[in-house]
Amino acid sequence: MMSVSGKRVCSYCKNVLGKGAAMIIESLGLCYHLHCFKCVACECDLGGSQTGTEVRIRNNELFCNDCYLRFKMSQQGG
Ligand SMILES: [Zn+2]
Ligand SMILES: [Zn+2]
Repeated sequence: MMSVSGKRVCSYCKNVLGKGAAMIIESLGLCYHLHCFKCVACECDLGGSQTGTEVRIRNNELFCNDCYLRFKMSQQGG
């Protein structure tokens, strides 16, 4: 389990976040550098530079909507 006390670690690159801006999803205990807030599959930026970008979370990993749908369709017997 991930400790959220003290230093926070980026869920993507596992480096300490420090005091800079970060994307934090409190409900899931996930936090990311701004440049690490991207789809784990296609690595497209999910940081909101494009309005309307949807972020999907599966198994504590970030996906863009396209990759998430592809991931779901690839699951058998779901
Ligand atoms: Zn990071
Ligand atoms: Zn993607």
